[in-house]
Amino acid sequence: MAKNEKLTAIKGMNDILPPDSARWEWFEGKVRDLMGRFAYRNIRTPLAEHTALFVRGLGEVTDIVEKEMYSFEDRADKHGQAEHLTLRPEGTAGVVRAIVENNLLYDGGKRLFYIGPMFRREKPQRGRYRQFHQVGVEAMGFAGPEVDAEVILLADQLWKELGIAGVRLELNSLGEPEERKAHRDALVAYFEQHTEVMDEEARRRMYSNPLRVLDTKNPAMQDMVNAAPKLFDYLGDASKAHLKAVQDILDANGVAWSLNPRLVRGMDYYNLTVFEFITDKLGSQGTICGGGRYDYLIEEIGGKPAPAVGWGMGMERVLELLKEIGAEIPQPAADAYAVIPDAAALPQVFQTVHRLRAAGVAVQMHAAAGGSAEGMGSMKSQFKKADASGARFALIFGADELARGMVTVKSLRDGQGAQQQQSLAQVQDWADTLKSAA
Ligand code: ATP
Ligand code: MG
Repeated sequence: MAKNEKLTAIKGMNDILPPDSARWEWFEGKVRDLMGRFAYRNIRTPLAEHTALFVRGLGEVTDIVEKEMYSFEDRADKHGQAEHLTLRPEGTAGVVRAIVENNLLYDGGKRLFYIGPMFRREKPQRGRYRQFHQVGVEAMGFAGPEVDAEVILLADQLWKELGIAGVRLELNSLGEPEERKAHRDALVAYFEQHTEVMDEEARRRMYSNPLRVLDTKNPAMQDMVNAAPKLFDYLGDASKAHLKAVQDILDANGVAWSLNPRLVRGMDYYNLTVFEFITDKLGSQGTICGGGRYDYLIEEIGGKPAPAVGWGMGMERVLELLKEIGAEIPQPAADAYAVIPDAAALPQVFQTVHRLRAAGVAVQMHAAAGGSAEGMGSMKSQFKKADASGARFALIFGADELARGMVTVKSLRDGQGAQQQQSLAQVQDWADTLKSAA
């Protein structure tokens, strides 16, 4: 990069700045609170993993592994060996690796969640970024359909608590490996009869990953794909019963769903239940959450065979949807703004402000923009800042008050500007009256 060239963020990787960052924190707070009520525990895995983990975990013939991964060679170690690393494109593979490596399932199943950035080298556009963020849940070591229903109900409850309505839930079953095999053979035979309408990518994948061909976004292939053999018709009784049990629990909880026999999801690791939550308000980037059961992935990554189910949710898309529906998200504001007429009082002001903060009061201190020690700015400009800060009270540390061991507390909210004097020596007696919850 030339010396005078402007330094910018990487394309598709965004800064999250205030005031917008407050939306993120608010959202994450809702998520953490809900996870606690479902008894899901937080897991944090590294942002980078060995490339082989994703190739093996997600499947070689997937969009992510074929063209979206940020992979690189690490520097060589002293033996000249360099490791192949990848910035995680999704959360499940890393969580499974961690679970296996740390033998976390030794005493039974685990319910886990994560929040964090993922990396995919896609074409940046609204709702599609190169660094994006996911909330994810993984319930591991549980085989029953009630846990599929549980993770779906968790997501559905999150929509409710965020004030989001009109998200539709699509369900499908990918069955078990032998059922998929029978369907796959039928699918390949069908594709072989329809190569003339298939694009290059589809022809390349029709043998290596025929299911993925069904996921095409090419409009010219939709009719052909719609008429293709449906996996659903190849499901055995046990697979059908599993799906039915999930549906019964959703029905009993008033969660509407529709069966989409074409829903296959982007990773190879799924079996039985798969699902997506979709909104019509975000154009073609309308899938805000997707997941399913992956009973064979843990074994694939080298662990003792154990069933699992989970989902990943795109945080940018959910936040965009919240904006779209005009959701009111509280902006943080201090309880009080400290107005300081004279810089000479600063040491004493700090003492009081510090005690208030220790007592749980959020205090924003006035600070002059200029560098001079005495120039705190006029009272008028300080009050303007105090109003703009959103604080409910101004604390006025005037010289007269300070001399008497007092501070003036002025309400910034009621029009009269009611004010009273409070004692600096007895901060704990009045600190609570400043708190917004009080
Ligand atoms: P899509 O079909 O939109 O590419 P996907 O199937 O690749 O999605 P998943 O791997 O299932 O997506 O990831 C779960 C969720 O993460 C998606 O439903 C979406 O909300 C979000 N997501 C995926 N890729 C991106 C991205 N590049 N930018 C922002 N959000 C994303
Ligand atoms: Mg994708």
